[in-house]
Amino acid sequence: MWSSNTNMNGGIKDSDKLLKLKYPTLSIQSLSNYLLALHTKLRDQSTNTQEFVKYSNKLVHSLLEYTLSILPADYYDIKTIQTPCNVPFQGCSLISSISYNNNNTDNTMNSQLNLCGISIVRAGESMEFGLRSLIPDIPIGKILIQRDEFTQNKQAKLFYTKLPMNITQAKQIFLMDPMLATGGSCILAIKTLIKLGVTIQQITFINLIACPEGLQRVYAKYPQLKIVTSFVDQGLNEHCYILPGIGDYGDRYFGTVTP
Ligand code: URA
Repeated sequence: MWSSNTNMNGGIKDSDKLLKLKYPTLSIQSLSNYLLALHTKLRDQSTNTQEFVKYSNKLVHSLLEYTLSILPADYYDIKTIQTPCNVPFQGCSLISSISYNNNNTDNTMNSQLNLCGISIVRAGESMEFGLRSLIPDIPIGKILIQRDEFTQNKQAKLFYTKLPMNITQAKQIFLMDPMLATGGSCILAIKTLIKLGVTIQQITFINLIACPEGLQRVYAKYPQLKIVTSFVDQGLNEHCYILPGIGDYGDRYFGTVTP
């Protein structure tokens, strides 16, 4: 059995500390035993589709909360409210996904896209619910990329894109795919966005499980990319599946192959 070097007292694995030194823009969620228990349920081959969806939603929600918690201060506005005890409380609120400005010259409204999500179809769609539950008005685009199972290194192929209008203005784009395996889909999705005029600084790639090979390949191409992950696994097998991994995430989430 591969020892995950999991810290049962919670916190960061030693191997993760080295990865974070190697890749300064990599953020790995610090796992409590509760989150580790959710990972264990999710990865268990005897977990059925209904349970898989439940644990996936919980883990994705927690990962997205972590992502929002590490955004810099300028993603938050200072906000003062009155508590039920009639006392002011100064806190903050996340900037809205879209802001509207009145154009004084002709009194029309201009909109500015601040935050948006993009899911890499199909498995990335499983993260849309979590993003919407945290940011209800966030526009979510889709990029359909599939691994070509007939090529030796499972080459990624782009089939379809539907993206929010004015995407090049976005302050931050949350690109979502639960598995960072070979990195092919992630690189192709980013290439597609960059071709449209988006910069690498505007993108955060969010995934539940990554592996050293995928991180190496993506960072070799885009060293400034921000990557947020919940767990870095051991590596890839000869079929480009992550080990210990989870199996095929899309099949397990959407129930297209039942255990
Ligand atoms: N995609 C998956 O769903 N699982 C893997 O292990 C790798 C890529």
